[in-house]
Amino acid sequence: MTQSLPPHARSTTALHLNEIAKSGSFSLQVCQECHTVQYPPRDVCSHCLGAGLLWQTVDATATLVACSTLHHSNEPYFQAKLPWYIGTAKLDCGPVAIVNLPASLPLGQRLRLALELDASQSAVLNATPI
Ligand SMILES: [Zn+2]
Repeated sequence: MTQSLPPHARSTTALHLNEIAKSGSFSLQVCQECHTVQYPPRDVCSHCLGAGLLWQTVDATATLVACSTLHHSNEPYFQAKLPWYIGTAKLDCGPVAIVNLPASLPLGQRLRLALELDASQSAVLNATPI
């Protein structure tokens, strides 16, 4: 039987997240013109359209603003791991991101995010309660 892997298609810009995940740091793109932190990675700033986006270490804390439990998936990789807990996290440094959660958590839960490699060696955002 072939081992199933999570989906791993990423844009060229987003592939840089894999290198950050390998390094163990938590870096996101920061606009050098308006200082907006970007997530997901982009080619230009989502706030001012500036092209000067540099990868910088940013605060990895966030607040859980939505939580959901998946009981079904069409992806074989996820089917074997259900239920799967995901959440929407508002990072203290600005952006909002979809994150993997270890369990169903209450809204308002403080989180620490980590960029980690999943089974397909693609960066994902994993959150743990703090
Ligand atoms: Zn900007």
